[in-house]
Amino acid sequence: MATDRVVVVGASLAGLRAAEAVRKTGYAGEVVVVGDEPHMPYNRPPLSKTALGAEPEDLAFRIPRHARDVTWRLGEAVTSADLTARTVTCAGGDVLGWSGLVIASGLRPRRLPLPGPDRCVVRTREDAARVRSGLRPGARLVVVGAGFIGCEVAAAARALGAEVDVVAPERVPVQRPLGPLLGAALQRRHEAHGVRFHLGTVPVGYRAASVVLGEGTELPADLVVEAVGGTPATEWLAGTGLDVTDGVLCDNALRAGGRPDVVACGDLARFPNPLFDAVPRRVEHWTMATDTGKRAGTTLGRHLTGSGADEPPFTPLPSFWSDQYGFRLQSYGAPGLGDDSRVLEGDPDGEVAVGYHRAGRLTGVVLLGLGGRYAHYRSLVAEAGHLALR
Ligand SMILES: Cc1cc2nc3c(=O)[nH]c(=O)nc-3n(C[C@H](O)[C@H](O)[C@H](O)COP(=O)(O)OP(=O)(O)OC[C@H]3O[C@@H](n4cnc5c(N)ncnc54)[C@H](O)[C@@H]3O)c2cc1C
Repeated sequence: MATDRVVVVGASLAGLRAAEAVRKTGYAGEVVVVGDEPHMPYNRPPLSKTALGAEPEDLAFRIPRHARDVTWRLGEAVTSADLTARTVTCAGGDVLGWSGLVIASGLRPRRLPLPGPDRCVVRTREDAARVRSGLRPGARLVVVGAGFIGCEVAAAARALGAEVDVVAPERVPVQRPLGPLLGAALQRRHEAHGVRFHLGTVPVGYRAASVVLGEGTELPADLVVEAVGGTPATEWLAGTGLDVTDGVLCDNALRAGGRPDVVACGDLARFPNPLFDAVPRRVEHWTMATDTGKRAGTTLGRHLTGSGADEPPFTPLPSFWSDQYGFRLQSYGAPGLGDDSRVLEGDPDGEVAVGYHRAGRLTGVVLLGLGGRYAHYRSLVAEAGHLALR
């Protein structure tokens, strides 16, 4: 008898939402989630923020009603998949057959290929606990990378009284998604809180208590955090024939490899969003892991239950937040796609809304503060995208 089972690889936000959505379609077979971390799915955003100051309260997600009968296999990696035999193999040797596969294995932190003492990263609860144990007043922290996670770690460390240096090759922090205007404003805020930036440079070596930069500067360091982005965790898909160049290539319904029985979601799913254009992209946002998880689970469940694939195009509006020094940055749409940014309201050194445009069309808005204006700018960006769809 053919297997009647959905296997979800990756027990985190996207995998949980996908398992729930599969069940919501009425799929009655077994749903098994395999995760290599020993924990039930938990929330990562606090890890680079409040969790660096104090042991976090329970981070685990509530398990929704539809996902209560899911089987969890935790602390065990999937090491390979066979799409012809419809199986995955676990590290312990168990082979699980499936009729539907959800790829939700997310990202692993990228590491700089430099020898020297071990460095910290921030992706898991254990990573955050390790950084937390090294942060105390006067501790010298070097953060490598000035993206959102690097900046959040720097802000959290300053709040705890650590000395903080940030090293990155860009001209301003968070340059790629935010551009020079807001990046420079963010830098001024950090500098006002005592963070020292070393931009346009990279580490060339790590020593026992220092980081050596390209031009020879040596920064003293009791603790080094590398926050230089993530790499899609797709090793286990080697040899399957799926396109895993920068994540898993999917169609708009999140099917991978043109197969109705294999879907991907979360940080590693690369799919076209007609709100912007036809180019498949990955989006590393919490809300996108939720939206893609739900959609991928629905696509798969509808296929397995024979209820058809008659869904409207998938057009999620990306949104992202970041908390630093008590102010909130909120982003809607895809500011990184803009080739031009301008202030829509306010002042970059106070509260501000910045609009990002491509060929004259609004692709995203980022707000620093201005909490009361979220709904307005969110609908402005959504409207611009939907106008382009017509
Ligand atoms: C420190 C930090 C702070 C963040 N802050 C924000 C924020 O402020 N705002 C925001 O919008 N987003 C934020 N994000 C992003 C958000 O948390 C991610 O978009 C979201 O976690 C993605 O979920 P996911 O399920 O796709 O992947 P992940 O959460 O990466 O989960 C994938 C899971 O699969 C497991 N896995 C990998 N390979 C295998 C395998 N072979 N077998 C079994 N299991 C495997 C992994 O160990 C992991 O448990 C933050 C992320 C981090 C790390």
